[in-house]
Amino acid sequence: MRLVFMGPPGAGKGTQAKAVAKRYDIPHVSSGDIFRAEIAGETDLGKQIKQYLDTGALVPDEITVRAVVDRLQADDCQGGWLLDGFPRTEPQARALDEALEANNEQLNAVVNLAVGAEVIVRRMSGRRVCPTCGRTYHVERIPPKVEGKCDACGAELIIRDDDKPETVRQRLGTYERATAPLIDYYDQRGLLLRVDGSGTPDEVRRRIFEQLDSEVQDG
Ligand code: AMP
Repeated sequence: MRLVFMGPPGAGKGTQAKAVAKRYDIPHVSSGDIFRAEIAGETDLGKQIKQYLDTGALVPDEITVRAVVDRLQADDCQGGWLLDGFPRTEPQARALDEALEANNEQLNAVVNLAVGAEVIVRRMSGRRVCPTCGRTYHVERIPPKVEGKCDACGAELIIRDDDKPETVRQRLGTYERATAPLIDYYDQRGLLLRVDGSGTPDEVRRRIFEQLDSEVQDG
């Protein structure tokens, strides 16, 4: 099974992508996670890309394609994978097509999680993270027991740089400009599955499973 997960920032893509990868027993390959690991490890690549992540801008295609295509060559990806957050531009989608073709492989489906801008801004502006242990919260959806403090370690919760309102606006603008056109790109290839991303994470997960399960049955 080879799947791509798309959706605007804040659509809950990461959470859903992990659940789907588990259900079909395929590795969850997130370009954002790859980049954050490089930054945390202070590698050369990490130093090169930190600024893009901090401002919500896209990492250049060449760097991104190399990092993701490399990851897809690992042993654990030979039986399939789920791509989360890649491709995000048309050149990236074309590069993925070429990499697949070179291996005589095909995508099974592209899941597009559709969520309105208003819902996204509300979801993202409420996110909080613990700078010490990394636990994540949401002021409305997953509030800490004591306001502003981590349940696990008591540290003062912070807003991640890329969840700040100005960065959220920048990321949404980038999504509309660079990534939303990929919806048509995959629709034209008959690969697109549109899933309503509103409601609770459980509701959204059920919708995705239903659509993907019937996709798998239909071959
Ligand atoms: P994410 O965790 O998917 O929201 O990604 C976090 C950040 O990593 C994005 O805001 C971009 O700066 C960068 N990034 C992740 N995936 C890509 C991609 N496919 N192309 C360019 N930049 C990316």
